[in-house]
Amino acid sequence: MAKADELLIGAHMSIAKGLDLALVRGQEIGATTIQIFTANQKRWTHSPLSRERKEKWHETLSRLNIQKVMSHDSYLINLGSPKEEVLARSLKAFEEEISRCLALKLSFLNFHPGAATGDAEERCLDRIIESLVKMEPLFENDSELTLLIETTAGQGTCVGHRFEHLAHIINGVKAVLPMGICIDTCHIFASGYDIRDRKAWEATLSEFDRVVGLSYLKAIHVNDSKHSLGSRKDRHASLGQGEIGLEGFRSMMQIKELAGVPKYLETPEGQTMWKGEIALLRKFSK
Ligand SMILES: [Zn+2]
Ligand SMILES: [Zn+2]
Repeated sequence: MAKADELLIGAHMSIAKGLDLALVRGQEIGATTIQIFTANQKRWTHSPLSRERKEKWHETLSRLNIQKVMSHDSYLINLGSPKEEVLARSLKAFEEEISRCLALKLSFLNFHPGAATGDAEERCLDRIIESLVKMEPLFENDSELTLLIETTAGQGTCVGHRFEHLAHIINGVKAVLPMGICIDTCHIFASGYDIRDRKAWEATLSEFDRVVGLSYLKAIHVNDSKHSLGSRKDRHASLGQGEIGLEGFRSMMQIKELAGVPKYLETPEGQTMWKGEIALLRKFSK
């Protein structure tokens, strides 16, 4: 197993006043990887990244010890929407997101698969596949970027809360695009997969391996859950202050198949808590 301080562990950092500052803020709290929004996540359209911003980003990244930067896409995007107008806007916004990720040479683009909003789940999943396949032309250069489907809590009509959903999308897209999964610990727990101790983690991972394949697990969002197992509610809690509990996170850090998988905190209260939580996870790995 890698040394504790070399493990890729970080958090979702703010890009306020400059993308490059997210990297600096990450380094300050002991992060070796970070997640960012590449633009305001609550807006549909953005002006393109200036050359200056891109240069500053690459210059900062090259002198800091931060790897495998991940983007989280806009909450507005629904690649499985049955509504034509929403789908069209989502496709355009997702395309632009991919372009920004490529310009910043990011490793991962994490996205919420989509919501059926009144349509059948199966149709929504197929529409997500159609949407993703349309992105193929953007990937013609030899980039490192991998698209990661984030597991969901199954709130409302969101798809992606069963491993079968993830497998269905991956199987439909993997021939044309680099695909993987980001497991969010709060979300899988809320959707009914237990991870409160070592035995529960092993059962959940073997189910993931059977249905999706462990090789597709590329990242983990590390969050405790305010709500109980199977509640299908998406409310993050600080580590040890939710229903998963510290033993669940200690177990996660002890599982050798997960040691090389980058981990990103999205727990409440931000930077002040994250420094301690990053240190705690590193300690759990020993
Ligand atoms: Zn997440
Ligand atoms: Zn969440």
